[in-house]
Amino acid sequence: QTKEPTDINKLADEYFRLAYHGLRAKDKSFNATMETDYDESIGEVKIFSQDIGRVILNLITNAFYTVHKKKTSSPDNYTPTVSLKTKKGKEYVELQITDNGSGIPKDVVSKIFQPFFTTKPTGEGTGLGLSLSYEIAKTHGGDLKVETTEGKGSTFTLVLPIE
Ligand code: ADP
Ligand code: MG
Repeated sequence: QTKEPTDINKLADEYFRLAYHGLRAKDKSFNATMETDYDESIGEVKIFSQDIGRVILNLITNAFYTVHKKKTSSPDNYTPTVSLKTKKGKEYVELQITDNGSGIPKDVVSKIFQPFFTTKPTGEGTGLGLSLSYEIAKTHGGDLKVETTEGKGSTFTLVLPIE
């Protein structure tokens, strides 16, 4: 396997749409507002694009899951929203996925990158998405970080070095 120069904005956008349409096809009640803010100066970055694609899909799927669940259990004036943002720094590009879902309690957030940790019912989650995503980020010399507020939502940031 070799790293390929990849348009990260395009990759992220494709998975964003794919996840959205996939979930809608499975469940007619699924809906979410999607926001995007792509830094067009990023250009191509050398990555294992299939692996990073999986990371992006994992993060997006988690985000859609939590906003959909909140929508199902909370009455009115809640607009499920998932935002995708990319940003180019000097040595790194960042990809941020933000949701206004449940957020993650303090005692739980320390465990979410552990293999098989899940709060989802049997059959809905393997608990492998984030641990795998973290490994992939590290393999690239990057990082996967989370900022979260219980009840308000979360932002996951994938950091990737520019070679
Ligand atoms: P899975 O999705 O199969 O449960 P993950 O490794 O993707 O496994 O996530 C582990 C756990 O982290 C989830 O079960 C959930 O409790 C929490 N989590 C991940 N992403 C989010 C998110 N965007 N909002 C709230 N909780 C999250
Ligand atoms: Mg997951």
